[in-house]
Amino acid sequence: MASVTQQPAAEAAAGKSAATIGVENPATGELITTVPLLGAEELSELVSRAREAQPGWESLGFDGRGRVLRRAQKWMVDNVERVIDVVCSESGKTYEDAQIADWGYTVGALGFWAKQAPRYLADERVPSWNNPMVAGKKLIIRYAPIGVVGVIGPWNYPIVNSFGDCIPALAAGNSVILKPSQVTPLSSLLMEEMMRECGLPAAAFQVATGDGATGSALIGQVDCMMFTGSVATGKKVLQAAADAMIPCYLELGSKDPMIVCADADLDRAANAAAFYSMNNSGQVCISIERCYVEEPVYDRFVKKVVDNVRKLRQGVPAEAGSVDVGALTFPPQLEIIEEHVKDAVEKGARVLVGGHRQGPGQFFEPTVLVDVNHSMKIMREETFGPTLPIMKVAEAEEALRLANDSAYGLQASVWTRDATRGEELARRVQAGVVCVNDAQVNYAALNLPMGGWKTSGLGTRHGANGIRKYTKTQSLLVTRVAPKRDLHMFPYTKLRTRAMGAFLRFLYGRGKRD
Ligand code: NAD
Repeated sequence: MASVTQQPAAEAAAGKSAATIGVENPATGELITTVPLLGAEELSELVSRAREAQPGWESLGFDGRGRVLRRAQKWMVDNVERVIDVVCSESGKTYEDAQIADWGYTVGALGFWAKQAPRYLADERVPSWNNPMVAGKKLIIRYAPIGVVGVIGPWNYPIVNSFGDCIPALAAGNSVILKPSQVTPLSSLLMEEMMRECGLPAAAFQVATGDGATGSALIGQVDCMMFTGSVATGKKVLQAAADAMIPCYLELGSKDPMIVCADADLDRAANAAAFYSMNNSGQVCISIERCYVEEPVYDRFVKKVVDNVRKLRQGVPAEAGSVDVGALTFPPQLEIIEEHVKDAVEKGARVLVGGHRQGPGQFFEPTVLVDVNHSMKIMREETFGPTLPIMKVAEAEEALRLANDSAYGLQASVWTRDATRGEELARRVQAGVVCVNDAQVNYAALNLPMGGWKTSGLGTRHGANGIRKYTKTQSLLVTRVAPKRDLHMFPYTKLRTRAMGAFLRFLYGRGKRD
């Protein structure tokens, strides 16, 4: 049974509000518990406490903050079963989906940001010699924490895409308010409990449980927004952030294409197609949502994928190894999946495996479709379920054109034994991340930026920008040795103006100077 024990910030702040949200296990329909639904007034209290706590947290420096993150890493190791239990119970995902991503990613990320924050955010000296106006002066770029960062997360990875984005914000010296999805708030509350136990000043990281209105109210009160969710909500968040004049980063939806060339290792590609389209019940932003296969290997590839998918065991997740595909976390998602499959079939697609809801609980069978085309929703809109539509193409150029025929551009994959050609094709795919002979695992490379093109997002997480985005840059110009005569001074005289003109013409006249 999932358990979160300490009194969370949201509960303390919710004294005035009786409104609550029920949290259910989607695999069984069991009501697990209720959490407070915070309104704007309660949020204001959380934010003012966060503002008060921020300078103290910042003053601990990278070493002090890093020690807290390292303690949290150890806590995650000591409490692995509890973390997985809480994630599985509110999301209905399998033990493995929670272990690999929600627990595995986070335990690594705590150490990564503890170690890399001082490097990514170290003061930078930049050269002054290349411009006579500033020659000899000390030029420094400093990364200062932005203040209070708001993070709003989705339900598909209740820790990775919620608390995961708080870690670099905290490492940079900010206070953070996390508004998790109303569907899966318990994992975030557990992370709040963990951070307190590990010595983080309580108000430096608070979880604000609530719904869309709570998220909307948060945006006007913080200094920076990090949002992960759907494109439709992302647009609203961006508009609200524009009104508040704060920086805003968006990680949004996707329709990730897989391109299988005729020379690909077909066994490996077919395994990957089954795994990356069905893991986490297909509720993954970086996955395989549609597949294009070169004609000479199409039939063999489809057969291998179908054989793999037929073997998948679906059901109520229990201990490790109990099932391969779990439940769908968010009930309305079932309708979207059903609608996409129905639309495809009505337009001529054939379902080779699956195609139906299963219950009790929120389940949709792992489903493979063929004879699909771009008039179908399943090839153009985000399905976010255990479905894999496979389309035959004449050759990779056609696959490339179809892959790019999308409003989305988050992630893609290219499969070929010729890695050089794979890389050439990858560079022509319009997506923020393209893997050659792999998919999804780029998320584990925390030093590799990840973010969407087109409507899939704005900004990136991971890498240097994954932490610098939570800072304000301050440029320092220090004149250490004052010159006898400054270049810039009144009165203007003809002689000095002409001398300056001649000097600049000499400097830049050959067109070679920076
Ligand atoms: P969603 O947009 O419905 O909700 C996301 C969060 O926004 C929730 O916490 C919700 O309460 C909040 N919210 C709703 N209305 C709001 C408003 N007006 N202002 C502020 N916050 C508001 O998304 P979802 O259904 O929870 O998640 C699924 C989506 O997330 C999919 O589209 C998926 O692709 C995307 N996603 C993207 C990434 C990525 O890295 N690009 C990762 C995971 C999920």
